[in-house]
This record gives sequence, C-alpha cells and structure tokens, in this order.
Amino acid sequence: MKDQFLINLSKHFTVKIIGILFFVGVIYSCKNKESNLAIHPYCASEYCSVEGKQELINLYQNSKAIEKTIYFDINCIVTSEKSLHFFKISEKIKKLNQTYAPSHIQFRLLPIILHKPVAVNLDEIERKKSFRRLVTQDLEKVDALNIFIVPHGKYLNGFTYVIRDNFLNYFNLVECNTTFISEKAWFNESTLAHELGHFFGLQHTFGKSPYENTTLEKPDGSNCIEEGDFICDTPADPNGKINKKCEYIGLSDAKKYDFNPPITNYMSYYRNDCKNEFTLGQYASMNAFANKYRKYLGTEN
Ligand SMILES: [Zn+2]
Repeated sequence: MKDQFLINLSKHFTVKIIGILFFVGVIYSCKNKESNLAIHPYCASEYCSVEGKQELINLYQNSKAIEKTIYFDINCIVTSEKSLHFFKISEKIKKLNQTYAPSHIQFRLLPIILHKPVAVNLDEIERKKSFRRLVTQDLEKVDALNIFIVPHGKYLNGFTYVIRDNFLNYFNLVECNTTFISEKAWFNESTLAHELGHFFGLQHTFGKSPYENTTLEKPDGSNCIEEGDFICDTPADPNGKINKKCEYIGLSDAKKYDFNPPITNYMSYYRNDCKNEFTLGQYASMNAFANKYRKYLGTEN
C-alpha cells in the first residue's frame, strides 16, 4: 500500500516536473526569439509580395527621372486635446519638402483639422479595422494624402496602408491614401519621411524581415537588384547593433561580418535620432513610383 502510494507520488511529481520543464522550455524559446528581434520601435507597413517585388524591380530598372514636380495635397488631421500650435505642422511640412525635393515630389498643406481625441492609440488602429474607422470616420479626403496624428501606443511610430502588389490598384483604394503617425513620433526627424517613403513604394532597407541578420541582400552588393529594398545604393542591412554615436558595432553573436549598414537611412529601423537621409537611388525610385502609381493623387501645379 505504502509502495503504491510512493509510486503514485513519484508519478505525480514526474508529470509535474515534465510540465515545469516544458513551460520553462516555452518561455526560453520565446525569449530566444525575442533576443533576435530588432528592438527598434517599428512601423507596420508590409513588405511586397513576390509579384510586387517583380513590379518594383521592373519599375526601378526601366524608369527615367521625371523632373516635372508632382504635388500632393496633405489633409492633416490631429486627434488630440493639445492645440494645433503645439504640433508645428507647417514647419514640419516645410522640412518634408526640403527632404523630398530631390525626388521632385512636393507637398501642400490643406487647412489642418483638429478633431476631438479618440480613445484608441496607434497600435490599436493598426490592429483593428473598427478602431481605424472610429478615428478616420469621414475625415479622409479622396483627393489628398491623409495624415493622422494619433495617440502613441506601445510599439509603433507610424504606419501606412500599402498593398503588396498590383500597385495600379492604389487608384481604387482610398484607405491607402492614409498615413498614421503617433503623437510622440511626430516630433522626431524621421518617422514622417519614413512613412511617406512607404507611400511612394519604398521598402525597408533590411527587406522582408526585421529580425537581426535575416536580410537576403549580400554585404558585397552582388544581389542588390533583387533582394532587400531592390535599390543598390542602400547597402545590405542586417538590422544589427549600434552605439550611442550611431555607429555599427556588430550582431548579437558579437561578430561584425562585412556589413556596412545604412544607419542614417530613413527606411532603416535604426534609432530615429540617427536617421536623416534618403539615397539618390531611393529618390529615383520614389520619383518613378509617384509618377506611375500615385499619379492619380498628384497634380502638376
Ligand atoms: Zn516602415
């Protein structure tokens, strides 16, 4: 009887120990996964599909610069209790025009709309269509680029609704004329430029996955046309570690490899205070994209 009791007891503990080990294993593997994840706050705009990739490669390889300026009206909507003055929107758009000048893309600010605060943040808007509708209501204009400044959430700085292929369909998709920026990110130098980069077809410099060292673009540039962002003057980006001075210091396994990542590039995931430029290749790509796929929204004067 006692032996049976001891056997049952030991069985009971064996099951418990296996359960605990399993649980620890699950936590460990999640942590492991997290440690590989880029820790930079990110945007939620999706990478193109295989078909979209081909469209972009064809566009980038076969376009000549169109030097006639294409203008986009900006319908800026702020959902906040703060005053419009606080956001310094005109100054920001002026800076944006300087940034985008080499692409021959310019922006004109329509009268700004200050809307009552809605109790959902950027992360929630990205997650659920009903939250998005709650914020946008009937404030989006069909003939302008809509920019919503909304309360910040936990992870996102901003996001732009993009389609992953068949880019001519932008013409029919009003919701893809909209960019969301968090109130906090509005004041950094890079989020707005980054999100509009997506609006004009740019991909992240690391390509499809933000996980560290998963870029398919080779550091020697030999496959730059078909991997990463398909733009050859943005070097392969492993989304590695950088120091306080915005210098690349390597990867989590302490190896440096041959990468020379584009830490200052707007379309990377490095710290916002490090980012302050597009490359000539990115300007040319946005020029081509704007004149082919966003022309319906732009005007020539
Ligand atoms: Zn992005």
